[in-house]
Amino acid sequence: MEDTIFDKILRKEIPADVVHEDEHILAFRDINPQAPVHILVIPKTRMVSFADLKTQDPRVVSDFITGVSSLAQNLGLETDGYRVVFNTGSNGGQEVPYLHAHILGGRRLQWPPG
Ligand code: 5GP
Repeated sequence: MEDTIFDKILRKEIPADVVHEDEHILAFRDINPQAPVHILVIPKTRMVSFADLKTQDPRVVSDFITGVSSLAQNLGLETDGYRVVFNTGSNGGQEVPYLHAHILGGRRLQWPPG
């Protein structure tokens, strides 16, 4: 698998504004935020995209999704709501080939996305 900017952030080779880290996930602020709260969450088990989740150990999937949900709560986003986005592949607009969830919140988001 290609070594990405997120691999380097996980290895602490380049800085990031980390908001949470545990044995399963790393979460950090997006460098180009699209909302007042814009967090990227990556699993420590390396995958390219959301499409890879179906072949993972269910515990890996559960730890990642539960981590995203818990982080959104801890960020105080549950009251007003938030959005979780997995851009997947070229048509999905994925730029970094390391699975990541975008957590977006802090304003009313538009639908449908562009
Ligand atoms: P994608 O389009 O792959 O779903 O999203 C990649 C995201 O990573 C983009 O929102 C982009 O702003 C963010 N990003 C790219 N490079 C960096 C970086 O070096 N640091 C951080 N914190 N975010 C980055």
